[in-house]
Amino acid sequence: MGNTNNRDWLARSQAAVWHPCTQMQHHTQPGSPAYLPLVPIARGEGPWLFDFDGQRYLDGISSWWTNVFGHANPRINAALKEQLETLEHVMLAGFTHQPVVELSERLSALTGGALGHAFYASDGASATEIALKMSFHYWRNVGRPEKAEFLCLAGSYHGETVGALAVTDVAIFKDAYAPLVRAATVIPSPDFRLAEDSETPADVARRAAAALESHLEQHGERIAALIVEPLVQGAAGMAMYDPEYLRLARQLCDHHEVHLICDEIAVGCGRTGTFFAHEQAVIDGKPIRPDLMCLSKGISGGYLPLSIVLSSDTIYGAFLDDSVARAFLHSHSYTGNPLACRAALATLDIFEQDDVIAANRLKARHIGDALAPLADHPQVRHLRQRGMIAAFDVATDDPHFSRKFYRAALDRAALIRPIGNTVYLMPPYIVGDDDIAHLARAAQGALEETLR
Ligand SMILES: *Cc1c(COP(=O)(O)O)cnc(C)c1O
Repeated sequence: MGNTNNRDWLARSQAAVWHPCTQMQHHTQPGSPAYLPLVPIARGEGPWLFDFDGQRYLDGISSWWTNVFGHANPRINAALKEQLETLEHVMLAGFTHQPVVELSERLSALTGGALGHAFYASDGASATEIALKMSFHYWRNVGRPEKAEFLCLAGSYHGETVGALAVTDVAIFKDAYAPLVRAATVIPSPDFRLAEDSETPADVARRAAAALESHLEQHGERIAALIVEPLVQGAAGMAMYDPEYLRLARQLCDHHEVHLICDEIAVGCGRTGTFFAHEQAVIDGKPIRPDLMCLSKGISGGYLPLSIVLSSDTIYGAFLDDSVARAFLHSHSYTGNPLACRAALATLDIFEQDDVIAANRLKARHIGDALAPLADHPQVRHLRQRGMIAAFDVATDDPHFSRKFYRAALDRAALIRPIGNTVYLMPPYIVGDDDIAHLARAAQGALEETLR
């Protein structure tokens, strides 16, 4: 128990912990080009993570896109300490409590009341499965059981449990389990990197929406829902697209009686410049609203596992009946955990008290300015940004690019973990100008070292 240095923790972790999203052998063979040492973290403070040897790393990717207000945030800590002394957990079937009520009310208000019913789980993949089940069950309850298929976008990522893999289109996560999965239909992505000739991002969006339309015209009768990551497809490599796609998708889904599910797990909570990404798609002066929305990651400030599916009154209403079988019987042990809800309330408080969405506009500009020189690099492609996500692709055929870059960034005191050949920054919102400059320098330096 008394370990004090990285090497000891690293060895014990390698032996006893099966790490996620990891070929464990890459942690155990120094000398192999794929070798990656584990980084044991002793503590966090603000945007910084500290290891056991006194080295620090600026968390340039918000610890897998979760941590929005920094590590050991004093305000979230205080709220959690108070909650800990009051109520740590109670089952949510048959019981309720203050944090879950307040959080549900506040999230509903953030959707302008359009999504007034909050269903709780613990992780993003479960939220995806809940949204899919709710959509399918809604159609069954209203006498349309044939609506049992789903649409997702090329490159989509909605989680890795077997049900969520049905709507995930990332080969590395999906291929091994294909025989287990009842795959959804994949339709073209509006990713603006797919522009042909002089197409604008809005043109690419319209072309992808035309493909959605022709699919719905042929098969709409059997389709329950379209699920999208609004504006940015994260795991696809920060594929960004024009809000025009969401506007058209909303209209097409309405026309063909298909639910629109917005997976805001990564892009919600202010990440793209509005509290929810889908709000950037506007029809008649008002933001569009999905029928179902998934939230997780940033909602608890990166503190505790929490996910939420928000649903419209129409969907909720179709489950009300004397019959238990028409109810949504899904549950998880930690559904609506009071500590997690309290962390989320403290997170929403910070958004309000600090007017974070407005403050992020300036920060996003500084991130853009800091990365701008990279656009001239001969191997950098598609330098792009949406709010607090900035990304670029690197033209290289080195199969070890992402691991080498990641290590080179760690050597420069920055946590920047590329997805394939896409390098991105997605820092906590508390980063200052110095932190942004530090990340940009680390990215530049890591790029030069990796491509040398
Ligand atoms: C991370 C993520 C998920 C899955 O969330 P987990 O908590 O990792 O299961 C689903 N959708 C999107 C868009 C995500 O980024």
